[in-house]
Amino acid sequence: MTIASSSSGFAPWSDRLRRSAIVLIAAALVLAGVTMFGGLTVVQAAAVFLVITGAALVPWHLQHTAPVADDLVGARPAEMPVVQAVVGGMPDAAVLLDRAGRVLHFNQAASQLAPALRRHELALFALRSPEIIAALREAIATRQPQRAAYVDRAPVERWMELIITPLVLPTAFGGTEYCILMTFHDQTPLRRVEEMRADFVANASHELRTPLAALSGFIDTLQGPARDDPKARERFLGIMHAQASRMARLIDDLLSLSRVELSAHVRPEKLIDVVPLVRQVIDGLEPLARERQVRIEAELPAEPVIVAGDSEELLRLVENLIENGLKYGASGGRVVVSLADASSGEGGGEVRFAVRDFGPGIAPEHLPRLTERFYRVDVGDSRAQGGTGLGLSLVKHILNRHRGRLLIESVAGHGATFTACFPVMKPAAPGAPVSVKE
Ligand code: ADP
Repeated sequence: MTIASSSSGFAPWSDRLRRSAIVLIAAALVLAGVTMFGGLTVVQAAAVFLVITGAALVPWHLQHTAPVADDLVGARPAEMPVVQAVVGGMPDAAVLLDRAGRVLHFNQAASQLAPALRRHELALFALRSPEIIAALREAIATRQPQRAAYVDRAPVERWMELIITPLVLPTAFGGTEYCILMTFHDQTPLRRVEEMRADFVANASHELRTPLAALSGFIDTLQGPARDDPKARERFLGIMHAQASRMARLIDDLLSLSRVELSAHVRPEKLIDVVPLVRQVIDGLEPLARERQVRIEAELPAEPVIVAGDSEELLRLVENLIENGLKYGASGGRVVVSLADASSGEGGGEVRFAVRDFGPGIAPEHLPRLTERFYRVDVGDSRAQGGTGLGLSLVKHILNRHRGRLLIESVAGHGATFTACFPVMKPAAPGAPVSVKE
């Protein structure tokens, strides 16, 4: 990190030696003159000379015994190299000003934030935002700490917080020097998380409220107009069952998502053979495939394919991707499920689990957003299919935890392929036990 440089203001060693010598010679000459004209005896003149010599040597003594104290002689503490180094080393943008608001030091981050900052010039000239200028004026006038929030729009939009801290530094000779420290904190990541949290709560409540409203509507109808209509009762109870299941699915997905997020930093380590796991899911989804008239074609290797993972989460991931293929790609009539260990490739490969369908596919503008929570290409279609809008988000989080990645390829009208890639296991040391869990 580079910082604006400043000279310390101290005379170099040879200069001080010259000045001391001049003082002593001048003192000797004056004393000699005074003694010649009878103003002082030789003993008195010698005593005075000794005192002057002692005084001239004090700075040398300070230099020798306390180098830090030497820095203070004749210097303002805010100008000291140590202060400059502290400002330079601060992780956030920082600017130190004198009592009038003139720039003393600033660091690299501050010069990026306000390129017009110059040492010894008023900081107000270099700062653009009216919020900063108002806070700084207030700090200079009142000598009180100030805070200001503002949005920095160039080169990218950033939410910033400025903290102005008045500092009172002690000087070498018992006085004080007043200066002002400005630090700028980038609040953008926090702000984004906060926005996401608010969106998430709004979306989740909305998703829960919709089936709940349907349920209470049907309860009213069953208690009122349809009380004695067995046919209507049968039909409404069926709808109520579907709505209740939708709520249960949504709550399940929300809980799974928060569980995966909570353990996101802990990478699962159990060695799992994915082949039987995928077969188990395909078997479980056969009834849905029959109902949608879709053929599932499994292209699975005969030998085990091992990944380090959490079997529950892997089941969820495989189930979500195949189920999506069956739901949204049903018109294609078939879904191809494949598993390949690409570890033989150069530079270390991956284990790739892919689900390909031949349905309507997904338009390119939706692809980057598919893994956002509650994002759906067609909300009505997703709801009609019993979707919650959380499936792919869950898949992405599970893959993150497994240090994997999700590839989505689709050409509208030609189906879609979702591929989950897992890092390949490092070969175990010869003789090391390998536990394979189904
Ligand atoms: P949902 O619960 O709605 O299925 P997902 O997160 O699993 O939520 O999927 C998000 C959206 O992505 C779906 O609503 C759907 O619009 C789209 N989608 C997912 N898989 C496919 C697919 N195989 N073909 C077409 N669209 C898909």
